[in-house]
Amino acid sequence: MRIIDFRRDTITLPTLEMVEEAFKAPLGDSVYGEDLKQKELEHLAADKLGKEEAIFVPSGTMGNLIAVLSHTRRGDEVILEENAHIRTSETGGAATVGGIMLKTVRGEDGAPEPQAVKEAIRADDIHYPRTSLICLENTHYRYGGIVPPQDKYKQIREISKEYSIPIHLDGARLFNASIYLGVEVKTLASQVDTVMVSLSKGLGAPVGSVLCGSKKFMKEARRYRKMLGGGMRQTGWLCACGLIALSDRSIHQLREDHANASLLAENLAALPEIEVDLDRVHTNFVLVKIKHTGYKPSEFVNHLAGEGILVTAAGKSTVRFVTSKEVQRSDILFTIDAVKDLFA
Ligand SMILES: *Cc1c(COP(=O)(O)O)cnc(C)c1O
Repeated sequence: MRIIDFRRDTITLPTLEMVEEAFKAPLGDSVYGEDLKQKELEHLAADKLGKEEAIFVPSGTMGNLIAVLSHTRRGDEVILEENAHIRTSETGGAATVGGIMLKTVRGEDGAPEPQAVKEAIRADDIHYPRTSLICLENTHYRYGGIVPPQDKYKQIREISKEYSIPIHLDGARLFNASIYLGVEVKTLASQVDTVMVSLSKGLGAPVGSVLCGSKKFMKEARRYRKMLGGGMRQTGWLCACGLIALSDRSIHQLREDHANASLLAENLAALPEIEVDLDRVHTNFVLVKIKHTGYKPSEFVNHLAGEGILVTAAGKSTVRFVTSKEVQRSDILFTIDAVKDLFA
């Protein structure tokens, strides 16, 4: 039976081109700056994101944590959206490792309300923690891969400048956002001080993310990468894959992922038992409300698994589908029929 895996875009396997390039890559000790492919990848990432420098890190989680640590001191406060990945899905690293307090602001559209961000900034008072960072996310994971309204992000940028508080962008899927908006990643990154981008999701690399920012910031970030165990020695094989992940070919694949998500969303939305908010299908995620199907999410997931279709229960009455290069258009058509059959 063919398995169609909609659980995550982290399941993507390296392309044949990646495998071939990886094993040709020269190797060196990256901690001493001697891995040529890592240097090349870091240059390419900095160039693509329009930042002075970039560092290769083992994961997005480590990239975000390095950013938080580099921008703050223990006891400082970081403002972020209530359901930001940094808060919900990174094991409390900012608190445990960084001694950071998180001040959350809600924003159903993925953007913390600008006015609330402004109000959350602490006055300079001996009683208060220092507000030293604002974190934003694009695309927003918990809300289903949506691209938050960019006018709000611009307003937050103004506030950040007014109060001299830097912004770190969790841009795990920033290339997806760039495609949705029709705006270059560079332009999106120019609205923030530092940005993390995952190479290991839709872009297909087996491992790794990049963290980009100013030369001055990176001096600190490199120290934290080493401290957290991100000095990975002979990284050339991984970075050869990363270089291909950042190529136009890989970025173009995301367009197909988005088209597949739209196709799935539109067809599922047409079923009377199912609700899909098509206005919130921006990228490669489809959140499906199954309230009127008579199934609990776990039952719905199990039924589809019986057909070889893997999806994730994401809440009381929601099931999540994520498209990636491992899912073909024909798989989408098969899935639409399989869901229809559930109600037949
Ligand atoms: C996946 C993800 C991360 C973390 O990346 P890992 O490589 O899985 O550690 C961070 N932020 C967002 C929004 C993500 O989706």
